[in-house]
Amino acid sequence: MTMNAIPTKCDILIQDCTLLNRDFDTEAHRSAAIRDGVILEVGEAEAMGAKYDAAETISGAGKLLMPGFADGHTHVCQQLLRGRSGGTEPMTWSGVLVPFESGLTPQDVRVSARLACLEMIKAGFTSFADAGGVHMDQAAEAVLESGMRAAICRSSMDIGETVGGRLIETRQEILSRFEELYRVYDGKGNGRLQIWLGLREIMTCSPELMRDTAAEAAAYHTGIHAHLCEHRDEVSFSLTHYRLRPAELLAETGVLGENLLTAHNVLLSDHDIALLADSGTHIIHCPKGNLAHHGFPRVPTILENGGVIGLGCDGASSVNLDMFELMRTLQLATIASQGLPIFDKQIVTVKDMLRMATVGGASAIGGDTLGVVEAGKKADVILLDIRQPHLMPTRNLAVTLAYCGHGHDVTDSIIDGKIVMRDRHVLTLDEEQVMADAACHMEACFARINI
Ligand SMILES: [Zn+2]
Repeated sequence: MTMNAIPTKCDILIQDCTLLNRDFDTEAHRSAAIRDGVILEVGEAEAMGAKYDAAETISGAGKLLMPGFADGHTHVCQQLLRGRSGGTEPMTWSGVLVPFESGLTPQDVRVSARLACLEMIKAGFTSFADAGGVHMDQAAEAVLESGMRAAICRSSMDIGETVGGRLIETRQEILSRFEELYRVYDGKGNGRLQIWLGLREIMTCSPELMRDTAAEAAAYHTGIHAHLCEHRDEVSFSLTHYRLRPAELLAETGVLGENLLTAHNVLLSDHDIALLADSGTHIIHCPKGNLAHHGFPRVPTILENGGVIGLGCDGASSVNLDMFELMRTLQLATIASQGLPIFDKQIVTVKDMLRMATVGGASAIGGDTLGVVEAGKKADVILLDIRQPHLMPTRNLAVTLAYCGHGHDVTDSIIDGKIVMRDRHVLTLDEEQVMADAACHMEACFARINI
């Protein structure tokens, strides 16, 4: 570039940071220019500083720039259940979840979803996929207000035991209510919000609903979110009623494919894994929800088969929303269950975990446009304070980050090219108000819903 070159305009220049690159190695003295929601260029700091004329510059001194985390499976309407399960009583479907969800008002869901978005932003999540609950129009409003990126769906069930038939709808109701939500919200927020179809799980969805859902998703070019192979009862139900395992049933009804995201995936046979991997289905594990109840997902076998894995918190009723904890929990559990018996501690590596936490889940939501800090990708990125005693000094920052990092190390968040958190202050939501509203609605909920 010559001395007289005209500077290139950009919206944001993140100047002179450390970068976590697509191979999950770090590079010092890098800058990133962002314009119109997209990463224009990532390059050497000094040259970038001379080249760009930024409307806003963020100093990257002492900070790591990396892709935002993607929560591949959550339920934003369950935030007000926090503390109700996991202590002395288990979270049961008919005793807790169905009465709770069916008793929520639209306002409850709005404040719950806002609190979920606030907690996610503060932990470095820039996108999430929600498996659905009730009043998802209110969750959609919270997504738009918070600045997050999300793929959400209505909880959809047409059969099964749900205490007096609550939450059960006919196939026609399910499809027409999807269409209504899709018409109003899909693509809103400059494309940040997607409306998908939901299949709550095998035991509450008929094969006819599965077929209709696959056809509807193809017609609308949208995604499907389903719980899959979470527990033994589900596999047993599927074998008893259909003589097929759950993944085989989804294959048989035409649901498997690149637009399908399945959550949990704990009890997969070799054949199930091949079906999911070959079809390009996005496989999400929820280690903190699964390990104590249902067992260890077969991570190494899924990866060997070319499966794409992301991670999910599965809602906040009994866990915090922190991707670092998910990464460590899954890695240690996988080594303990499948590495130690064959004396292989490298059975799941740090890079595998960082991939799952970022591009693994993000690819389900945004294809190849998300999950990497590179020119041409959408500007969904976070900055972390790496000048802290638990992170420095280190011989390998990526390894230390994965083993020692926390969600509260995230200082800044940019989603779709907009700053949503600066120096840990969320700009899109009134933090005090969101927490006060949630406390008030939790009281009202439990006074009204008898669980
Ligand atoms: Zn779930």
